[in-house]
Amino acid sequence: MVEISLSPNSGEPHNQSAEEVEERDLIIIGGGPAGLTAGIYAGRAQVSPLILVGPSFGGQVAATSETENYPGFPEGIGGMALAEQMAEHAKRFGAELLFDEVTSVDLAVYPFVVRSWGATYRAKALIICTGTSPRKLGVPGEAKFIGRGVSFCATCDGYFYRDKIVVVVGGGDSALDEGLYLTRFAKEVIIIHRRDRLRAGPILQERAMANDKIRFVWNSVVEAVLGDKVVNGVRVRNVVTGEESEIETDGVFEYVGLTPNTQLFKDLLELNPGGYIKADKRQRTSVPGVYAAGDVQDPWFRQTVVAAGAGAAAAIEAERFLAERAYEDASERDE
Ligand code: NAP
Repeated sequence: MVEISLSPNSGEPHNQSAEEVEERDLIIIGGGPAGLTAGIYAGRAQVSPLILVGPSFGGQVAATSETENYPGFPEGIGGMALAEQMAEHAKRFGAELLFDEVTSVDLAVYPFVVRSWGATYRAKALIICTGTSPRKLGVPGEAKFIGRGVSFCATCDGYFYRDKIVVVVGGGDSALDEGLYLTRFAKEVIIIHRRDRLRAGPILQERAMANDKIRFVWNSVVEAVLGDKVVNGVRVRNVVTGEESEIETDGVFEYVGLTPNTQLFKDLLELNPGGYIKADKRQRTSVPGVYAAGDVQDPWFRQTVVAAGAGAAAAIEAERFLAERAYEDASERDE
């Protein structure tokens, strides 16, 4: 288990005077594969990065039961185990990890200002790796049962559905991957997909189709999560026939895509139409000295290995930026 320090006032709203502002060369916002890999590279370049891990250590991969395509792990590795190893790796090279969440940033001043629940920082460079969050269906009953029958994480909650029936919504890699994982516990996994073709890759499709515990409901959308104290079903509508029906279930796992966590940056950095941060091939954003890596700037691949690669690239760029600034500052002082 990775040890992550709590910020001194973690959990307390920020309320600090100017004297308490902490100066940092590099702050990495987010503790998923991109942020942790940026931490490894920046640490190894002697930049002493601070990683503000935020609300979900390990990012999306940590909520994944098993990742089978991360290089170096031919037998696969649990998502949380991979994130923990990355964190250990970053710490080994001097990265500091704080389990603290950023509440605002100011990129109009330099050094940039980063405020978290626990502290206020000024940073000469920033790497944003805030990732994505699961998209919600937004149907009646969903909000009432989140955490009590509606889940976005089979690895976290699958165990509670031993010998029960669960519904999985979605037709992508996540729906099938996690649907397959749920067959370890549930007696039946019903995958409800809005089309008659899956988006998921062929290997997962093959495995899901071959699994006796999995049943598909095609061309159907969930219109409501049903239940009084606990979930006992979903109402679905067939989008081809318009017919409505109810499906009995004990739990609903939603895998209908991801939305980028860019709320903090929406008026400060250029975003693309999907709300992802615009970054170039060198991970540079629209503000010099601010880099973005991982899913928060990647609507295309969203793979752990790609996020890790982008984190490494961002750290290399940030280190170059800091070195150039240090050189310029020294030259100015000498004049
Ligand atoms: P995704 O690929 O965006 O798939 C989302 C699925 O949800 C799609 O099938 C989509 O239907 C459906 N959907 C979207 N909105 C919906 C709504 N309102 N109601 C009902 N269904 C809805 O998301 P993901 O599966 O989370 O995957 C995200 C990324 O992570 C992908 O790049 C994926 O390859 C990657 N990933 C990879 C692995 C792996 O390699 N093993 C595992 C997990 C995730 P349509 O198909 O009709 O659009």
